[in-house]
Amino acid sequence: MPLHIATPLLESRPLSVNAHTAIWLKMDALQPCGSFKLRGVGHACETHHGRGAQRFISSSGGNAGLAVAYAGRKLGLPVTVVVPATTTARAIELLKLEGAEVIVHGASWQEANQLAQTLVSPTDAFIHPFDDPLLWAGHASMIDEVAQTAFKPDAVVLSVGGGGLLCGVVEGLQRNGWHDVPVIAVETHGAGSLHAAINAGKPVELERIDSIATSLGAKRVCDQALAYAQQHPVSSVLVSDLAALDACERFLNDHRVLVEPACGAALALAYDGAALAGYAQVMMVVCGGATATLPQIQEWKRTR
Ligand SMILES: *Cc1c(COP(=O)(O)O)cnc(C)c1O
Repeated sequence: MPLHIATPLLESRPLSVNAHTAIWLKMDALQPCGSFKLRGVGHACETHHGRGAQRFISSSGGNAGLAVAYAGRKLGLPVTVVVPATTTARAIELLKLEGAEVIVHGASWQEANQLAQTLVSPTDAFIHPFDDPLLWAGHASMIDEVAQTAFKPDAVVLSVGGGGLLCGVVEGLQRNGWHDVPVIAVETHGAGSLHAAINAGKPVELERIDSIATSLGAKRVCDQALAYAQQHPVSSVLVSDLAALDACERFLNDHRVLVEPACGAALALAYDGAALAGYAQVMMVVCGGATATLPQIQEWKRTR
């Protein structure tokens, strides 16, 4: 039994009407720890558990860390998560709720990650948030679930941070023979690391991240994400923070599910009447995210 659940695939009437095309939602916001991350992280943790790992270590104060904490609790292994001082009280609370040991260290993720690396003993497994073939293989299960139904999308819309979700979805499309299904990869303007790499035709490191979609805030995507963007039909789209926030609010009204702006970025394409014209059946990955609250989203909107 995998640690993640098979999620519903829903046809969305409100989003379809907005987008003037049929929109299907892959509801990974419903995973037990609130995001798709559990697919890949769960697979990686189970694999390391099978190889004898006795503890999991993460340096993510976001959904990847939460998924590691959840997987550790389910597998009966201790979890240590090192997070920077910028991590929200809510994220730390959620990690502790899953029983993880939380160490707050450093001003940036780089510093927290450095400490995390020094803690990794030979019997520990470090779980990366996006750059690991085990993660991609786990994320790919999302496409397997769709392929087992009669439905084949004309395009898949997803959001991109470090590119782990993109790698998993392309791996899933390819292993199901869906080489012709394009992926529309969405980032916010201040977190466009895939966009920059595609334009440059080589890996690019952004100088800084400037977006409220913190779960998309990887300065550089994994090399495999760029490689897939060059060998599979992938188009890159940027949206504003405000469009992502608006999409979160509208999606909450339409489907009664609260997602992070990182997920709102992808949903924004369905709320923008023109963006998906040309595709008859679009599947949106509702990747979810547990770290935002409605008051926080409303506050961000006031200050944009
Ligand atoms: C991690 C995450 C992303 C981005 O995934 P990557 O694999 O880093 O590209 C998008 N949305 C949410 C909610 C996430 O937790």
